[in-house]
Amino acid sequence: MTQAIVLSKDGETFKAEVRAISEAELEAATPGDDVVVAVEYSTINYKDGLALTNTSPVVRKWPMVAGIDAAGTVAASGNSRWKPGDKVVINGWGLGETHWGGLSQRARLKGDWLVRVPAQFSTRDAMAIGTAGYTAALSVLALRAHGVEPSQGEILVTGATGGVGSMAVALLASLGYAVVASTGKAAEADYLRSLGAKEIIDRATLSAPGKPLQKERWAGAVDSVGGATLANVCAQTRWGGTVAACGLAGGMDFPATVAPFILRSVTLAGVDSVMAPMTRREAAWHLVATHLSAAQLATITREIPLAGAFDAARDILAGRVRGRIVVDVNR
Ligand code: NDP
Repeated sequence: MTQAIVLSKDGETFKAEVRAISEAELEAATPGDDVVVAVEYSTINYKDGLALTNTSPVVRKWPMVAGIDAAGTVAASGNSRWKPGDKVVINGWGLGETHWGGLSQRARLKGDWLVRVPAQFSTRDAMAIGTAGYTAALSVLALRAHGVEPSQGEILVTGATGGVGSMAVALLASLGYAVVASTGKAAEADYLRSLGAKEIIDRATLSAPGKPLQKERWAGAVDSVGGATLANVCAQTRWGGTVAACGLAGGMDFPATVAPFILRSVTLAGVDSVMAPMTRREAAWHLVATHLSAAQLATITREIPLAGAFDAARDILAGRVRGRIVVDVNR
């Protein structure tokens, strides 16, 4: 039997619990999947927080094993790319939403969804990175694809102490960019500096509705907040700059005007990690592998047992989490 976090709905009654699932149940829920993974670690992302607390409709099929991420060892494979013993990581593809997910000791997955864990990382490191780190890497790749170079000036990261934000700060700093971190947690300034931020700004300076065009400052930005913050970031971006929009921690709306786009040639680059094609995933994981050290990951991460996921879910939605949370699914 496999211990997993199972989310279920009976009419309007939602239930989230750790319970045993049988191999037969797992197989019936994942027909046609060709790789069985002995999961070692998963993680709590913002989306996991939403799913575990039933705060917004993340889960599309019931019952659902939660967890949008997993890392572990291939136990059995009918896919020519993988053999037992391979270390693999999976992010997104509907895990924990439409497909049984990673907060489980075992997962049945499509071999074509899996990425090899980079040689210098453990499966725990892979989950310290998780969807948050992989999304930060996709965002950095988007800035680079639009020609944002370190010589062009400061890069703003919003939601900086969060998972995506922490990873974006560390990655950008390691690539030689001058990073300005926007946060609501003034007490975490030293943490952000230790990741490589050269300046910290109060997120309140970005959260109130502002003018369509403001003083030009940023050569680029990684925004995990959305709402008025994203509108202000666009309005403060320099001529020809790029803003990678990847999150909505502050709101789903986008109360902006077209002014930055048509008067300053600003690019708004959308970033979706869930359905990103394999070539882009591999590029993102390569970027992380070459620019984040295990020591940096240790600073960013704390570990919890499987049953700790429920408190962690509430904490991440309340904005109480710094960095990343790794879940040891066998503890
Ligand atoms: P976290 O909760 O770890 O980080 C979010 C951070 O945003 C918080 O730590 C906080 O940082 C800041 N924040 C929280 N609430 C507010 C608010 N009301 N106003 C302004 N800032 C706020 O989440 P993740 O890093 O895991 O995810 C961040 C966002 O990115 C989420 O919306 C998530 O859904 C999205 N996401 C999108 C992906 C994609 O594929 N596009 C993939 C992964 C995540 P601080 O205190 O430092 O200000």
